[in-house]
Amino acid sequence: MHSFSGRKLRVAIVGGGIGGLTCAAALKDCDNIELDLFEAAAKFIAIGAGIVTWPRTWSIFEALGLNEEMLERIKRMDPCEEDATPTNLHRQQLLDLLLEHLPFHCQVHFGHRLVSCREYEDRRGCGVELHFRNGVTLDGYDLVIGADGLKSVVRQTVIAQSRSWTGLDASVKDLEFSPNMTKEEHCHLGRRHDILYTGQSAFRGLVPREKLAALYPDHRALRTSTIYCGKSKHVVVYPISNGEIVNVVAFFSDSQSGSPVILETTGSSSPQNKQVPTDAVVNMYPGWEDEVVDLLKVQLQMLEKPTIWPILDLNPLETYATSRIALLGDASHSMSPHLGAGACTAIEDAYILGSLISRSKLNTIIDIKRVLAVYNTLRQPYGNEIMRWAREMGEFYEFDSQDIQVDEIVDSLVNEATEEQMSKFRKGTEKYWSWPVRAAGTIGEDLRRGQEMLNEAKLGAL
Ligand SMILES: Cc1cc2nc3c(=O)[nH]c(=O)nc-3n(C[C@H](O)[C@H](O)[C@H](O)COP(=O)(O)OP(=O)(O)OC[C@H]3O[C@@H](n4cnc5c(N)ncnc54)[C@H](O)[C@@H]3O)c2cc1C
Repeated sequence: MHSFSGRKLRVAIVGGGIGGLTCAAALKDCDNIELDLFEAAAKFIAIGAGIVTWPRTWSIFEALGLNEEMLERIKRMDPCEEDATPTNLHRQQLLDLLLEHLPFHCQVHFGHRLVSCREYEDRRGCGVELHFRNGVTLDGYDLVIGADGLKSVVRQTVIAQSRSWTGLDASVKDLEFSPNMTKEEHCHLGRRHDILYTGQSAFRGLVPREKLAALYPDHRALRTSTIYCGKSKHVVVYPISNGEIVNVVAFFSDSQSGSPVILETTGSSSPQNKQVPTDAVVNMYPGWEDEVVDLLKVQLQMLEKPTIWPILDLNPLETYATSRIALLGDASHSMSPHLGAGACTAIEDAYILGSLISRSKLNTIIDIKRVLAVYNTLRQPYGNEIMRWAREMGEFYEFDSQDIQVDEIVDSLVNEATEEQMSKFRKGTEKYWSWPVRAAGTIGEDLRRGQEMLNEAKLGAL
């Protein structure tokens, strides 16, 4: 049995986004660990303006000693008073705070884009080897944490290993995507095509308050968050930066059936971000209320080159961990944005994994395997489920969900919606937005469950 006695455990985190940095912060008390964090970019960067956080997220900030500083920075004294109340954070503020709390024993390596990794067991011993685009190769890692986002390279190794465990290679070798394929075939195909196009795309843009107010002084987007819903389209608007800016995201679906289209990450047929003429955007919402069309017009004036963004998620992974490698955040469950859950789920993964590692005495490879098995048991079903809810929420908003019948909607678009129809819609929306409550218990309870599993594992159950 490989033992680490007499030397420190070597841990690598790949990816310095919100997930990778939170994981590093959660390892702050681990002086038995030599920690390297590899980031592809030349510095830490915040993608997007805001993120939504929930009570579970704030309990993590508290555990990491970040909550008071965060409250100070966002100048809000009542985060998440109720179970399902979100708090909007500026992404850069969160990133800055995490950076200030990086542990001293964490060495950051910028400009290190991982191109492959593999577990080995040979005459050198055993561990994980990392190859970077800049030509650097490093080996001897006891544990690698893949926090490298949607297009995760670490994920490829985890998928390849889980495939080899179940011996599915031969059966999926010649499988090609078809809309009529069975769920099982689709799942098999996902082992080769892990990123999925949800069938939805979006235009995003920020509108200064005064521009909208000049055209439309009473526009509700100046005061409140609103989601405008229509068949196969919806538009999300909410004020940010103390109401000085209105964030507008206009979604539309181009997949009639709602079936996912397989995105070849390297192929030419991928739905890529593409620029389109302004008129094309407005023409996509014919017959919509003036307040939506005017908002889109102002939004488009602000954008030099309107760009369509495909909304992507992942084919659900069978496992988030091998014996020495764990995935977290978007690397394991990159999800569509309809629940505002991506960043906080990454924070939860990172904190739970970091806490399990720091609470366990990792003396042998068996100990690492146990911790990763417990992490996987806690997080894989949760991550996959929330990713599915996020996709379903998007379909629901656009009346493409089985929960809302299309003919009822067409009827309510032509005539006034009846109270019964509205009540059905409200109930559906509440069902999806209750996820922070449905997401079973608190982070503390999850960790207690994890500790119990680890104790049982020590007795030989895993
Ligand atoms: C425009 C936009 C708006 C969003 N809005 C919200 C929101 O309001 N609420 C919400 O909850 N979520 C939101 N999300 C989703 C959220 O940003 C992600 O779920 C979250 O950032 C995931 O964190 P992560 O650390 O797992 O991945 P990322 O934030 O993607 O970080 C991955 C890191 O890994 C690095 N990296 C990538 N590949 C490699 C490699 N090969 N080698 C080394 N480093 C690598 C990247 O440079 C990056 O720093 C939004 C996403 C986008 C794109």
